[in-house]
Amino acid sequence: MIKSVKPGQEVTLYGYVHEFRDLGKIKFIQLRDRTGTIQVTVKNQPDLELNREDVVKVKGKVQESNIAKAGIEVISEKVEVLSKVKKKLPVDPTGVVPSELDTRLKYRVLDLRKPEIRRIFEAKSHLAFAFRDYLYHRGFIEIHTSSIVAAATEGGAELFEVQYFEKKAYLAQSPQLYKQIAVVGGLEKVYLTTPIFRAEKHNTIYHLNEAISLDVEMAFIEDHHDVIKVLKDVFKHMINYTAEKMGMPENKINEIKTYTYTEAVDMLNKHGTKIEWGEDFSKEHEKALYEILKEDAYVITDFPADIRAFYTMRDPEDPRIGRSFDLFYRGLEVSSGAQRIHIPEVLEEELRKRGLDPLDFEFYIEAFRYGAPPHGGFGMGLERVTMKFMNLNNIREAMLFPRDRTRVTP
Ligand code: ATP
Ligand code: MG
Repeated sequence: MIKSVKPGQEVTLYGYVHEFRDLGKIKFIQLRDRTGTIQVTVKNQPDLELNREDVVKVKGKVQESNIAKAGIEVISEKVEVLSKVKKKLPVDPTGVVPSELDTRLKYRVLDLRKPEIRRIFEAKSHLAFAFRDYLYHRGFIEIHTSSIVAAATEGGAELFEVQYFEKKAYLAQSPQLYKQIAVVGGLEKVYLTTPIFRAEKHNTIYHLNEAISLDVEMAFIEDHHDVIKVLKDVFKHMINYTAEKMGMPENKINEIKTYTYTEAVDMLNKHGTKIEWGEDFSKEHEKALYEILKEDAYVITDFPADIRAFYTMRDPEDPRIGRSFDLFYRGLEVSSGAQRIHIPEVLEEELRKRGLDPLDFEFYIEAFRYGAPPHGGFGMGLERVTMKFMNLNNIREAMLFPRDRTRVTP
């Protein structure tokens, strides 16, 4: 790795040709890998001809230099060409010549050569690791559920249909029903990181058609506040760990406050953003609330039950309210969760209320007929968190190969 070389070392380095200067007898390569660039001075290979982004292997000795930018250079014994660039570069990998997002995504392979683009995926890696690490060390079990399912979890319209032999099946919108069955089955505390599929037709900067969901589900809770505590703790750990690793201390967060939906609605109306009690937040409402609260992260609880998924438990004291919550990060919803219904008859009733057929969910409802502990959990969108952490304008930036209305390649 280029970053770790020291004067006096004999090294073998691999990398891309960032720049090539040919002065005849002597040639200079700016060699680049993921960790940085270094000057390579070549004196004994008169035939060597290189272009930007060719891939080479360099053997040589590291020495101090007063002309090279980094203060060190490699005096090459041998440069071996491993791969030549075959075409004109459609995206400038140094980023000096900017490209449209569309072009960049089409040529992600070149886009990723820019350090600031790689950093997005480094941050995403830290965020996902911190999520798993935190829960693993607190007795949660990582599970894996199928992406091919027989029924919708988040409402019928946003489903991708698949032909499953003689039957119709769907791509999972979330691992919801299965993580619940795992918990009820006796695993008690579980988490997973899994692709979710949403056939949302509209192109927005906050939606992908395939995203990564970080999910948690836990049994034996008193109510949703037990789950909110875990959500806050794991989220704080994700952000603070990643801030540390990425050298972005300004991103660290301390306390995450909780407000009720009713309080949020009052605040919005008081500050001139109209919203009726019972309405779900639009992205504009979310933004307006962020401008009022000016806090990086907060949880809103107790949404009207009718705007939440069918499996959300209602507040026994006020059945209009669901024991539900959302986490907002920099003004964007990044997580939704709730205490779930664990009484099969209540589940059937909620399905019917929403015009869904309990028979389609029989495998799920059945799971609650053999003793089911009170439980709850949440799902968190990894790309949304990454997007806001890195201050990106479009969620597509946070997915290596995003899937949207028009994009299925690369
Ligand atoms: P929104 O209202 O913002 O469209 P949602 O409430 O429909 O989101 P949920 O079903 O609550 O989303 O999913 C849980 C989390 O998964 C969301 O908070 C979000 O972080 C993430 N998520 C959901 N849909 C998408 C999507 N299409 N693209 C990226 N992330 C998503
Ligand atoms: Mg939601």
